[in-house]
Amino acid sequence: MKTLLKAVLLLVLFVGVIMVVNVLRLTTRQVAPGPASDLTIDQTSAVKHLAGAIRFRTITSDSEAKTAPDVWPLLHTYLGGIFPLVEKNLQRETVENDSLLYTWPGRRADLPPLILTAHLDVVPAADDTLAQWTHPPFDGVVADGAIWGRGSLDDKNAAIGLLEAVEALLARGFTPERTIYLGFGHNEETDSALSGAAAIAALLKRRGVQNAVLLDEGGWIYEKVPGVAQHVALIGVAEKGYASIELTVETDGGHSSMPPKETAVGILARAIDRAETQQMPGRLDGASAALFDALAPEMSFGLKVLFANRWLTRPLLLSQLSKQPGTNAAIRTTTAATMLRASAKENVLASTAAAVLNFRLLPGDTQATVMTHLRDVIADPRVTVTPYHGQPGHDASGASRTDGPEFAALAAAIRSVYPDVLVAPYLTVGATDARHYSEVAPNRYRFVPLDQPGGTELLHAPNEHIQIDAYIKMIRAYAAFVVALGS
Ligand SMILES: [Zn+2]
Repeated sequence: MKTLLKAVLLLVLFVGVIMVVNVLRLTTRQVAPGPASDLTIDQTSAVKHLAGAIRFRTITSDSEAKTAPDVWPLLHTYLGGIFPLVEKNLQRETVENDSLLYTWPGRRADLPPLILTAHLDVVPAADDTLAQWTHPPFDGVVADGAIWGRGSLDDKNAAIGLLEAVEALLARGFTPERTIYLGFGHNEETDSALSGAAAIAALLKRRGVQNAVLLDEGGWIYEKVPGVAQHVALIGVAEKGYASIELTVETDGGHSSMPPKETAVGILARAIDRAETQQMPGRLDGASAALFDALAPEMSFGLKVLFANRWLTRPLLLSQLSKQPGTNAAIRTTTAATMLRASAKENVLASTAAAVLNFRLLPGDTQATVMTHLRDVIADPRVTVTPYHGQPGHDASGASRTDGPEFAALAAAIRSVYPDVLVAPYLTVGATDARHYSEVAPNRYRFVPLDQPGGTELLHAPNEHIQIDAYIKMIRAYAAFVVALGS
């Protein structure tokens, strides 16, 4: 007995020593800030430019038609007018009529180019939410230190901010070493088969262009990353995939006065319940593991012990991270029941009941593996599991490098404008245009250099607005990217 106790104590001591050693081995992954820039940004005109762009109703949606068909050429003309140096020094092409590709020739043709992307379309402002807007969504109102309207955060701020940065750099005579492309899609917010971004990528591919780096939206500076006090610039180095799957139950239907023991709706409801309560298993690997590798050295001792010893603490970490929707989405393929269809009349039994579940796929999971999982957990042959509308969805993207000079240059440029911010790679949980560029840019980083606490809650929501201070800083950061990555 004594020997056993001794052995257990020794083992505990041994594990404890290993855990402490692993903590001591953590060293910061943060790079030194790049040189601070003294670039002049004319705040008054920058604000006017973005506010003006918001007034163009470049609305795209899967369910609604665009409000004005001539809005795109008008916006293109507007951009030419407000950015005269860009107009003069960069070549501008329209792609698929409405998307834009700018080419800024670099001094050295032997260097692979850089491509900076954004989208100029916006989601609609639903009629039943208009009363909630402090300022109308398409008036481009400037008030209370902010620019208000649809697109002020997603994603006209990025497109106009990039052009603003390039205009300011041109004004001081800057020419990049590498050629720089600016690609602005016109239908990111839809699942249109004719994606503007995909068309830009196809055009570049036809021209044999291989970019060193692509920068798109998909991450920004977050104020509430669990475990660290500082704001964190989260750079999306991979993005989740997407699949919608329909569950269908077919029965005889009939009159509701003599129902069978189980109705189509009841069978379907139990299937949805099983799909929701038995989701795909969690994993802490790839970009999500890289996030914690980057942040663990900056955490408190207790958290360092947890994150530096994932060989032991993984189950505990996964169960903790599963509790919040934001962190849960980073560690598993999520299941969201979104649509339901059954009887159209209260006293008629549904002969068909159907539900759509939307999945955001972790790298490695596919529509096929999700369908197998669903059939297993539903375990009811009366429930048919098929791709919604026969659509294949798309798998998660591959991961871009975090150990190369490009990522380090981006991190240094971020910290040149935001010295107190930590930089970390992560898995973007939504879909971005960046996925269309995989063949013309092996390293795709999804990041908008914006530090506006609470901003994420305004995306696609009423009262979308960008704070002017935050916007001006964002333009500075874009200029720093161009200088750091373009040379
Ligand atoms: Zn967007």
